[in-house]
Amino acid sequence: MKKYNFNAGPSILPDVVLEAAAKAIIDFDGTGLSLLSISHRTPEFDAVLAEAKSLFRELLNIPDNYQIYFVGGGASTQFFHIPANFLGKKAGYVHTGVWTKKAIKEAKFYGQVQIVASSEDKNFTYIPKNFEIPSDLDYLYICANNTIYGTEYKSDIDSPVPLIADMSSDILSRPVDVSKYAMIYGGAQKNLAPAGVSFVIIRDDMLQSVKRELPTMMNVNTHVENNSMFNTPPVFPIYVLRETLKWMKAEGGLEVIYARNQKKAALLYAEIDRNSLFRGTVAEEDRSLMNICFVMSEGNEELASEFMSFAKERGMVGIKGHRLVGGFRASCYNACPVESVEALVACMQEFEQLHK
Ligand SMILES: *Cc1c(COP(=O)(O)O)cnc(C)c1O
Repeated sequence: MKKYNFNAGPSILPDVVLEAAAKAIIDFDGTGLSLLSISHRTPEFDAVLAEAKSLFRELLNIPDNYQIYFVGGGASTQFFHIPANFLGKKAGYVHTGVWTKKAIKEAKFYGQVQIVASSEDKNFTYIPKNFEIPSDLDYLYICANNTIYGTEYKSDIDSPVPLIADMSSDILSRPVDVSKYAMIYGGAQKNLAPAGVSFVIIRDDMLQSVKRELPTMMNVNTHVENNSMFNTPPVFPIYVLRETLKWMKAEGGLEVIYARNQKKAALLYAEIDRNSLFRGTVAEEDRSLMNICFVMSEGNEELASEFMSFAKERGMVGIKGHRLVGGFRASCYNACPVESVEALVACMQEFEQLHK
């Protein structure tokens, strides 16, 4: 049976990328050796790294005064690397769910944390807006797309202090004005690569503003100065990331991908709103393009497990909502084709007919 992959992370990658990755495991770029069995300090891998960086720069329109590096440890390692490097006295955090909660916890090891705004009062179903940003903060931290709740910032906020954003689950899904951020980072396993590598995009001036002496691996300068190769980088995930970026470029670049993402989200949200058995869970203006959350409508709650089996029988994979939210979540990352969303919509319509 055909499978429609809506996994939240690690998640769907384009077929051509998987084919290239499989091939490289056997014969990496015609070297006659597996990608998994070569030194990272070879001209061949240098070329992969260089192309990954230059494609990232090109696709996201990253200005020249920003550096890009790749490092292991996942986004969760950045939760403490960021305050270790940049929190001198006080940092501001906008609290929008589990991923900011975890980041806030780590920041407190290094200094004061001011919660500048929060959507906890409504179980993180919206993005706080029009909040004031104190000018005495070392930085302001946001999570651009809240993977678990399905909320997303729809514009780049203006901040008087350096703005740092976790874009693990919406990187390269939509255009971003990089110049408004001091640092953008994320784990690559949602939209770009298999698990094992994080990307960091950091403005040059931040490299001079590290607040304390740090172990070498924790200092952002180490990774910039050593071109992501202070220690052995995650060779395979970086290779796959490069293949994903090549695919994106071949598809027509970020504008084309963004338009496709908007189309998929519009299709699914329209069905959630139309179908009498379902309802959306978050404020309409903050609905994520990537992680689309919904539940059974009032009075139909008991149909949830039946719908789960019904959808599974029709090939839907990974639509169970996060345990903290319940219901359903369809993650519609870049590589998720429009046909998958159409199949899910058809499945929801069929289920409604069955219960008329
Ligand atoms: C998945 C996710 C994380 C955690 O990433 P790890 O690489 O597993 O540490 C952090 N932030 C967001 C927004 C995520 O979606």
